[in-house]
Amino acid sequence: MIDTHSHIFSEEFDEDRQRVVKEAVDVGVRNVILANVDSSTIDRLETMQEQYPDFCFSAMGLHPTSVNNDYTTELETIKNRLTAKKYIAIGEIGLDLYWETSFIDEQKEVFKTQLQWALELNLPVIIHVRKAFAEVFEVLRYFGNHTPRGVFHCFSGGIQEAAYVTKLGFYLGIGGVLTYKNTNLPEIIKSVGISRLLLETDAPYLAPVPYRGKRNEPKFMVEVLKKMAQVFDHTEERVDEITTLSAKELFGIG
Ligand SMILES: [Zn+2]
Repeated sequence: MIDTHSHIFSEEFDEDRQRVVKEAVDVGVRNVILANVDSSTIDRLETMQEQYPDFCFSAMGLHPTSVNNDYTTELETIKNRLTAKKYIAIGEIGLDLYWETSFIDEQKEVFKTQLQWALELNLPVIIHVRKAFAEVFEVLRYFGNHTPRGVFHCFSGGIQEAAYVTKLGFYLGIGGVLTYKNTNLPEIIKSVGISRLLLETDAPYLAPVPYRGKRNEPKFMVEVLKKMAQVFDHTEERVDEITTLSAKELFGIG
């Protein structure tokens, strides 16, 4: 398995990071992709990347909830890191109108700028959307037939949005929410097909059942794999194989 979206560089893991990595490897997680948030998380992310060079890959980007008045300085810092180090993706980027709506214009501009970088650098994007599908599609439409490739991480849309996202060539990132009771994610993932799905945790957030409410860890992804196998009536091995191959292809990792 590849955990395509994780924040295990964050301080929630300072006490036991080494154990978390070891236990993930023990259950079959071969790689984790670290997704950046803003300038305040870069040092932690890069330190973890250096400590676990074979286990971690990293994405650099400015998260929409970190977009405020000093977004130009933030963007400059992110751009510098992108050119200074080896990053496999731009992320996480996108729009979030759940927490904050006052910087919507700035969020759109920052999102668009980073999508442009993805095209220039030929990198995939990791997109975060919360209560903003229409607005995200509006920004993507600006790119016409030349949208970057990427994933809508922790997909939270409906059937129609899923159809549109996959029509544009994007993957859906699926994590702990798939195991929750009141979700229509099972029918959504069935409607797009297993070849458009990636596994992820978003650790420390969104732990799957039976760990819901606890700190999430890459090793818990086994529960998401199990549930996905049930939904498609495949073996876990087959689901692992297909989703891992998709992750390798999208992010260009061996
Ligand atoms: Zn995230």
